[in-house]
Amino acid sequence: MSVSLVWLRDDLRVADNPALTAALASADSVAIVYVLDEVSREARPLGRASKWWLHQSLTALASDIAKLGGHLILRSGSPRDVIPTLVNELGATSVHWSKRFGGTRNIDADLKLSLPNAQSHHGSLLHEPWSLVSGAGTPFKVFTPFWKTYLANNVPRSPFPAPKAIPGVTAPSESLESWNLEPEIPWDAGLSESWTPGETGAHARLNDFLKRGLALYHRRDEPAVPATSRLSPHLRFGEISPYQIWHAVEAVTDAAARKNAAKFLSEVGWREFSFHQLFHNPDISTRNLRSDFDSFPWQAPNPQLLRAGRRGETGVSLVDAGMRELWATGTMHNRVRMVTASFLIKNLGI
Ligand SMILES: Cc1cc2nc3c(=O)[nH]c(=O)nc-3n(C[C@H](O)[C@H](O)[C@H](O)COP(=O)(O)OP(=O)(O)OC[C@H]3O[C@@H](n4cnc5c(N)ncnc54)[C@H](O)[C@@H]3O)c2cc1C
Repeated sequence: MSVSLVWLRDDLRVADNPALTAALASADSVAIVYVLDEVSREARPLGRASKWWLHQSLTALASDIAKLGGHLILRSGSPRDVIPTLVNELGATSVHWSKRFGGTRNIDADLKLSLPNAQSHHGSLLHEPWSLVSGAGTPFKVFTPFWKTYLANNVPRSPFPAPKAIPGVTAPSESLESWNLEPEIPWDAGLSESWTPGETGAHARLNDFLKRGLALYHRRDEPAVPATSRLSPHLRFGEISPYQIWHAVEAVTDAAARKNAAKFLSEVGWREFSFHQLFHNPDISTRNLRSDFDSFPWQAPNPQLLRAGRRGETGVSLVDAGMRELWATGTMHNRVRMVTASFLIKNLGI
């Protein structure tokens, strides 16, 4: 009996997952692993709220996979060691994963050298960052021509359906609880009230937005109006794909919602553009994209101001409301993010 290994990373879903689809097509049975990587130099440490989300999302994923007959194996450590070890344990004939576009792609490149049957699949973005270039043949620096070029030359493919069954094999697994992703001090009640991590929760969120929010999307800059999708954390963990979102939006028939469809999809396009920037500027998270900001007159951090900013006690109502929303729900409205980020950076010099 042949075995394929699927390594899930930021694609915690079973539907429209090209890596899983390819693994199922290439072997009699499939092993599925998630690796908690807190050791590779390329791995970006997760914040506490992200850890909370990951715990809930993996719980939901394990249940979804089990319903189809498969198993989710949990391992921790460096994927450069964990994945080849698991391939040997299972005697896997191929390994499949979804492409990543940040610094962690170095890990994938190293693994491809040591695992000749490793295959990466394209599933988390509508475009491949190297495939879209300006008329001059260079990466895009401005969103509008980027998105116009994408729309003129691409039609997003239809999403792959969820597999009907996963003929699963398993291997020793760590317990999710042993990873201590949930907070020791229970500050997460607001997160639980606000979100349902996992593939089912992501689609419920999308459907609710298409029914109620999309028709209001032209009012998305008003923080008090529930007009945005709140899909960003679901997209971040890959519980839903941009292809699924695209085709669900295209299927909307309500006239008021349809009027806002192109605008909403262009915001999903901003996500594409951000990954385009990240791919072509791998140090974007540590260096200024525009070097003229290198001479910005930063002040030494003032601990009192920093504390006031964090607690939502600056005295500026919109900023304080945003910071309190962030504390209570784990997210902040886009427009308020802009105001808050600008205030903390430019006014408080934090
Ligand atoms: C200071 C600051 C920090 C931000 N940090 C993040 C972040 O860490 N992660 C993140 O996804 N977005 C970030 N954004 C962009 C934007 O605020 C969020 O994507 C948006 O508020 C998420 O809410 P939503 O899912 O309801 O958005 P919607 O308006 O419903 O948009 C749908 C999707 O489009 C994408 N999108 C929308 N706006 C942007 C944008 N400006 N740039 C890139 N993608 C976008 C997101 O994937 C979003 O989920 C940040 C913006 C600011 C000003």
